[in-house]
This record gives sequence, C-alpha cells and structure tokens, in this order.
Amino acid sequence: MKTNFKNAFLFLSAIVLTTTSCSKDEETVSNNQEEILSIVDEQPNHLEGDCGYVDGNWSPTAVLSTTIGTSAETNFMNTQNSKIAAVWGRPAVPLRFVKDPSNPSSTFNAISYGSGKIYYGEAIYNAAKAQSSDNIVNAMILAHEFGHQLQYTYGLPSQNESTARAAELEADGMAGYYLRRPTGFNKTSFSQIAAAYEFAASIGDNCTTCPGHHGLSYQRRSAVRLGFLLGAYALNGPNFDYNFFYYYSGVLSGSYKQNAASSEYFNPEIDAYIRSHAEELRRIQSGEMSDEEYFNLN
Ligand SMILES: [Zn+2]
Repeated sequence: MKTNFKNAFLFLSAIVLTTTSCSKDEETVSNNQEEILSIVDEQPNHLEGDCGYVDGNWSPTAVLSTTIGTSAETNFMNTQNSKIAAVWGRPAVPLRFVKDPSNPSSTFNAISYGSGKIYYGEAIYNAAKAQSSDNIVNAMILAHEFGHQLQYTYGLPSQNESTARAAELEADGMAGYYLRRPTGFNKTSFSQIAAAYEFAASIGDNCTTCPGHHGLSYQRRSAVRLGFLLGAYALNGPNFDYNFFYYYSGVLSGSYKQNAASSEYFNPEIDAYIRSHAEELRRIQSGEMSDEEYFNLN
C-alpha cells in the first residue's frame, strides 16, 4: 500500500495548535494524516504514548511498537530493512510495527508513508511468517514497501495509470529484484521465491477500476518475475524503473516493446537477457502459464 501526502505544512501548523488529545477529529481520514504523525514520532510522549493512537490508517486501538515476535524475529526484520535500503544505495527508513491486542485482525496491512517510514502490521507479519521457515514472505513484503519509498524519493513510477497498478506492480518487481540480489535475500533460483510470492498475490485484488488496484494476480506474478530477472544486474531506482517499464509495458500489451534505445539506462546485455524471457513473461501475465510451471522457473 502507498499513501501520498500534500500540503503537509498546513497540517503541521494545525497539529501544533491541537496537541492535546486522541480525539476523533484527528482521526478524520485525510491524505496528510500520516505526515502529522511523523512529526509526532519526533516528539516522544505525544499522542502515541498517551493514548496509543497511531493514525487514521489504523484502528483507533492500535499501538506502535519497535518489536515483532521474538527478539530474533525483530532482528530479522530490522536487518532486512537495512539490507533492502543498502541494495538500492539508499539509507534505511524507520520501521515500526503496529499491534492491536483488542482487534488483532485490524493490523493485516503494511503501509509505506510519503514522509519516509514504514508501518508494518502484526497480523500480516504473523500470516506471512507462517508461510515458510525462512520468513521470506515478510522480507518480500518489506521490500515491496521500500519500493514505494524509492518511488517517493525519485518521483516514480515513470508510467502513470488511472489506478495504483503501475506503482504497485513496480513495487512487486522491486521486491523480486531484492530477493535475487547477492547482497539482498540472495535467492538464485526463482523457484525459491515463487511459492512465497503467492502469499502477496493472494491478498491482491481484481478491482481493475479501483483507485488502489494492485494489478491482477497474473500480472503481479509477471511483475515479480521481471524484477527477479532484472536482479541479475545492479541497478539503482531510476535505472530499475526504466528497465521495468521498458519491458513490462510491452508484456502487458502482449508484445515485446520495440523502443528506441535512447535512454542512458539502456543496456544491450540486459536487453538481450530480458528479450529471451519476453515470451515467458507474456505467458505468465496472460494466465497461460500453469502454477506448476511458474513455481519451477529457474
Ligand atoms: Zn504497495
């Protein structure tokens, strides 16, 4: 999930004048809610300490935490957070966990904020953790959320659509990229990540006209596959974006994109490599490829 913020300074002014409560007024959903609370983060003992209020994206009874599961699990997530950022040559952003003992299922979400932080729900963490012993699904979800941080930083995705699909599919691709990188999760075979990825696809959506549309399940599969393929090369955010959409736009339209090689990011070696997988990507996103074949891709 991705949230944007605008006019933050207007709201910063407002919060200075209304620092007293967890009132419903402050829960009024606005695109700026998370930006208000990021300032709160820099002022300890304010709202979150007084009444547990996180922000309008979470339930009123949710609380923030710096831990998740055992200390080893907390260390795992914090380590992943650092490694994901390092793979992209970026500083890590603050990672907090959201818990709600009185309404546990309400925390089945992870949010990347435009103010530069990631809030990660306990319920989605636990569900993802149950998928595999190496906790790869949580690493992937976190990598997806950090992908949104790259988008905030660099003004990506370069391709705009009427829904969030382009941004979400690119974040899926960035997650697939991270799972392959040697200094990332270092999974050299796609079959090692495909089954885990299905968890994220399973919580996707088929509402192609909804503003928050994440892409069809098959498209998400194809996006993570393309990201994984691009993981054979060291790319920064803008470079990844160029390559991702150079190929993905063609895949979505059912053809290899014959584009002028005019960008500084165009790399003949990458082009030859991805071109050799273009038909495969097309078959994934069209739904022609079987689960078995997908799970066993190299
Ligand atoms: Zn997302």
